[in-house]
Amino acid sequence: MTASEDKNLVRRPIITANWKLHKTVAEATQFVDELRARCADLGDLDIVLAAPFTALAAMRDRLQAMPFHLAAQDVFWEAHGAYTGEVSAPMLLDVGCTYVIIGHSERRQYFGETDDTVAKKVSAALQANLHPIVCVGESLRQRQAEETFEVIKRQVQQGLAPCDAEDLANVVLAYEPIWAIGTGMTATPAQAQEVHQYIRTLLDEGWGGDVARTVRVQYGGSVNPDNIAVLMAEDDIDGALVGGASLDVESFVHILSYQRRNT
Ligand code: PEP
Repeated sequence: MTASEDKNLVRRPIITANWKLHKTVAEATQFVDELRARCADLGDLDIVLAAPFTALAAMRDRLQAMPFHLAAQDVFWEAHGAYTGEVSAPMLLDVGCTYVIIGHSERRQYFGETDDTVAKKVSAALQANLHPIVCVGESLRQRQAEETFEVIKRQVQQGLAPCDAEDLANVVLAYEPIWAIGTGMTATPAQAQEVHQYIRTLLDEGWGGDVARTVRVQYGGSVNPDNIAVLMAEDDIDGALVGGASLDVESFVHILSYQRRNT
């Protein structure tokens, strides 16, 4: 079986909107209503909306019986206690989330996220039956210094340290080169594929061939309606984590319909 036949059989595509610090409750629910009206017949695809905490409850009420998954953009590792300002994995489940983004480079850069805190959060998410979307990626300096593989290896091995092979069935990875996030500078499909393939090698070494074949790895970094199809055509790219281009329904629907536009 070729790698691309294998990909289509074992890994369902997954596209995640990461709204970051955008959208009021009214804007988020309006987006959901418009998306529902626009997205019949998108094919075999998991669609995940990662909204601000404040919009999750209202979105949950709108999303019932709709083919979208709700996600948070971060989670704390303790379930409850004296941790002012934090939100726990059971709370996210309670509000309707099924996925949670963990270790986004903006959290690492501005909020002191480390591979160690990523590992704790992954563990907490899995314990609460949430699917972690674990982000990894190198900075421009690290890429230029040819440290990309070293950085990815550390982030994957340490971030997923608490997981066994069974846990990995519920984990999604996102390769997001920091230099491509919000910059309009997308990695070329070949650059992205090279790292995605390397991530599968790491999964194989750490957790075995089945995990390496089945775990979904999204690409993130200036994905837009014009580049989604060529990225998704790569053997080891199973989806996209989309920031800026997911804020507008029209643009997000174009991204989601890459399969239809391609046929
Ligand atoms: C992101 O938020 O993870 C991201 C990749 O952003 P953008 O698509 O805007 O580069």
